[in-house]
Amino acid sequence: MLEGVSAPTKAGYTFTGWKYADSAVSSDTKFSDLAADDKVSGITLVAEWMAKTYTIKFDTRGGTPVADKTLHWDDKVLDGVVPPTKEGGFEFIGWNIVSPKLSVTTLNCTYGELVQDDSIDTVTLGAVWRDTEKPVIIGLENGKIYCGPQKFKVTDNDTSRTATVIINGKNVEPDADGYYTAEPANGEFKVIAVDSFANMAMVQITVNAAHDYSDWKFDENEHWKECKYGDSVIEKGEHTFEWVTDKEATETEKGIAHEECTVCHAKRNENTEVQKLKTKWEKIRDWLISILVKIIKWFIDLIKDVC
Ligand SMILES: [Zn+2]
Ligand SMILES: [Zn+2]
Repeated sequence: MLEGVSAPTKAGYTFTGWKYADSAVSSDTKFSDLAADDKVSGITLVAEWMAKTYTIKFDTRGGTPVADKTLHWDDKVLDGVVPPTKEGGFEFIGWNIVSPKLSVTTLNCTYGELVQDDSIDTVTLGAVWRDTEKPVIIGLENGKIYCGPQKFKVTDNDTSRTATVIINGKNVEPDADGYYTAEPANGEFKVIAVDSFANMAMVQITVNAAHDYSDWKFDENEHWKECKYGDSVIEKGEHTFEWVTDKEATETEKGIAHEECTVCHAKRNENTEVQKLKTKWEKIRDWLISILVKIIKWFIDLIKDVC
């Protein structure tokens, strides 16, 4: 009966044969096997189809893995697919097509609508993530005053893209080592880093031309110079004290003196008394005593030699 009848085709399905009222019809089946009697002028055979199996693979691009989905031509592509998650400030926004190249713009469709060609048995989808964390400006502290050019870096949780860095309204590029530089300028600096999802980090700083060292600072033992913005110490060393006379002593009055560091002028032992100067008579007395001491010494030595 089926002689000369070619098998039909249907995208996404394999033709398995003809049926008539739930019974299979083979090439050996005769019209008379199916027709009740010779008054039946025609019968309708119904084609039997078996759905082919297709596969959707998921590349989550750093997110939690999603298992392959097996489906048929008329099944919805994303039905039953649990969205992945990704650590580090990412929100899942959907899938895009990785391979093969397809022209559809939505995945809210059946496999057949997606591929439109039933020889394509596998489609790979990739996760699309929205970055929800702002970039980080490393090396600059908001509100801080810096002395001299200040190098800094900018990182973003989305390492696949570089954040845009803007200094005082101007886009700047990093150097070969990935550093940006805030050059000295008068007044405040505004540094902004923006990622591709418009997450923004900002710091405001002041960059002076150089350190500003004030007067000497010192403690009991040492002296040093310190930048008034507190970021540098130079010329640290031990005091070198020398006596300095405040008031000369006379024959009638005591004098006053103190010790002073020759470098930082720190003082110690202030208001130290200096003995009165000796009078003429006291000097003569001292001279006579010293002569007497010498004579006695000489005499003792002589006795020693004799004995
Ligand atoms: Zn400084
Ligand atoms: Zn000193």
